[in-house]
Amino acid sequence: MFKGVNLIEFSERFATDDACRKYLSEIKWENGYQCGKCGQTHYYEIKKVGSRQCVNCKYAESATARTLFHKVKFPLRKAFYIAFMVVTNKKGISSYELSRKLGLRQKTCWSFKQKVIEEMKSDGNNPLKGNIEVDEFYVGGPEAGNTGRGNKTKQQVVMAIQTDGFGIHRCYAKVIPSAHSAELQVFFDQHIDKNAKIRTDGWKGYFSLKQRYPSIEQEISAKGKAFTLMHRQIMMFKSWLRGTHHHCTYLQKYIDEFCYRFNRLKYQNTLFHRLIERMVFNQPLFYQNYQCR
Ligand SMILES: [Zn+2]
Repeated sequence: MFKGVNLIEFSERFATDDACRKYLSEIKWENGYQCGKCGQTHYYEIKKVGSRQCVNCKYAESATARTLFHKVKFPLRKAFYIAFMVVTNKKGISSYELSRKLGLRQKTCWSFKQKVIEEMKSDGNNPLKGNIEVDEFYVGGPEAGNTGRGNKTKQQVVMAIQTDGFGIHRCYAKVIPSAHSAELQVFFDQHIDKNAKIRTDGWKGYFSLKQRYPSIEQEISAKGKAFTLMHRQIMMFKSWLRGTHHHCTYLQKYIDEFCYRFNRLKYQNTLFHRLIERMVFNQPLFYQNYQCR
């Protein structure tokens, strides 16, 4: 497992495409090999690094097949670099910056980065517990001070943070069409534990959620003064969004990226490896129809 966020160590470890293939292969078959075509569990190593060939039907599968690295049209070590920079840079990295650093087209970097971010989406399996604050805010529109393209429509976001009285442990957020209770409930059910102690402002949308979440306490926000940690988090998110993404066309994806990194601040050692695992095992939508050939 590659550990840490050190760029020199990363560059040495993944200096060649073969080193990357070997790494993917070890993750892909860490629980044993199984032929993608006939299910046989015995294989031969073949010449191409990381690939395995079935002893029964002779089907050869590469380390990248059925992963997010499948059919990437540029050197694998550059794809690894994009994943590394996106997940380990505290503020992420723009596709323009990646393009300059890697000598790839900006659009190429952008589209691969989208795949990486797709893997940073929460699976909802780790709801916030303990002391929670929830609030909604707007992104985009005139209030962001940016009249650029794609920034003309305001979008509403609901955010929840788990606090310990001093700081913020974790956070989740979701773009919502409106702050009606039905929309808020979807977010609550996905990201907040039923027994959590929840504070919100006086918005009526939270009122009807009290049946499902009896511990909700509503307080007058006093222009944010009652929710200082939450407002700091919202400011941090907005300033990151302006600095890195410049527009809000893919707001939910950017939110997922922000929360993924924030929620793993204490797990710097495994950041890269866990992301690569997701990229190997979580077959995204556009590969659902993939068939072994
Ligand atoms: Zn086979």
